[in-house]
Amino acid sequence: MPFKCCVTGCRGNYKGTEKVHTFSFPKNDALRERWLRNIPRKDFSATPYSRVCHKHFQPDDLIWETSAFDEKNGKIIKASLQRPKLKEGAFPSIFDGCPSYLSSQAGSSRKSPNEKKMEREANLMMKAIAHSKLSAAEYYKSRTFSFSDFNELLTCCMQYKFSTFWNVVHKDNILMFLNLKCTDGCVKLLYAVHITADLLLSVSFQNKLLTHISSKYNELPIKVSNINEIHEILDHIEMLETKDLMN
Ligand SMILES: [Zn+2]
Repeated sequence: MPFKCCVTGCRGNYKGTEKVHTFSFPKNDALRERWLRNIPRKDFSATPYSRVCHKHFQPDDLIWETSAFDEKNGKIIKASLQRPKLKEGAFPSIFDGCPSYLSSQAGSSRKSPNEKKMEREANLMMKAIAHSKLSAAEYYKSRTFSFSDFNELLTCCMQYKFSTFWNVVHKDNILMFLNLKCTDGCVKLLYAVHITADLLLSVSFQNKLLTHISSKYNELPIKVSNINEIHEILDHIEMLETKDLMN
């Protein structure tokens, strides 16, 4: 037996009417308050069984697709969901067929300055929570950017954003990170990091192959298996270069 929507006048999931997807009220107090304030129902308090259907949310707030990172082939797999999920911080705001004086827009103009302030603060908090979750997800993604052959390395690199210090070039089964400089009307290659098909990473400076860069990387070339390792070496070189320029 599907749950019915608690919005007055909404007939979703009633016998002989259209099927809708429903959502329970959020656990977060500020967001829950926001839902309750928006839903045009006088003196309504939600129970654990109260549901709001998807028709009252902005289309942008509904997620119909899920994605997961496949560590094995370095690809992001997408799949559609049987029932939609709500975006972080989403609240119901569409109430067709309800008296306009009960709708959220009309309600907001009657709010006291204090209420408005509280609402602003709650919104900021929601945004901060959503943002921190996103950075965590991105961090996790970067942690799992590992590869076991050259093709996987290429796939990983395509999804990764490297510093603009480097020009990334793939040619003849060699992946190259080139640091070019234009001086006296002539383009010069300063640093070059390249990875061969056997995943060996080498570094050269002004066309000379290096056997080490500082004490941190004292045995070059090295075998790589994760984007983070490449990223660290590139960062290290970029930092050295900036320091040298400043001296
Ligand atoms: Zn509904």
